[in-house]
Amino acid sequence: MRQVSCRNCGNRVLVEKYSNEHTSVQWLEESAQVCPELARASDQPFSQRSCSALRDTINDLADAGAVEMSERSYPVPGILS
Ligand SMILES: [Zn+2]
Repeated sequence: MRQVSCRNCGNRVLVEKYSNEHTSVQWLEESAQVCPELARASDQPFSQRSCSALRDTINDLADAGAVEMSERSYPVPGILS
């Protein structure tokens, strides 16, 4: 996995790519406290954990070939703690 920092809020995540469409993102910190965009979204009970700036950061890295494709065929569920 590759560590990526959101270029907007600096939130750190681990990113792993399984295919062009399937990217796994693992949060390393309490994201709602780190990312202003996520803090807003946490008011809603079923909000998705996503930050558009972070997604853009990951997409740019992937386009640049900086996120290598994983050898594994299936993502491991769960969050690192
Ligand atoms: Zn963010």
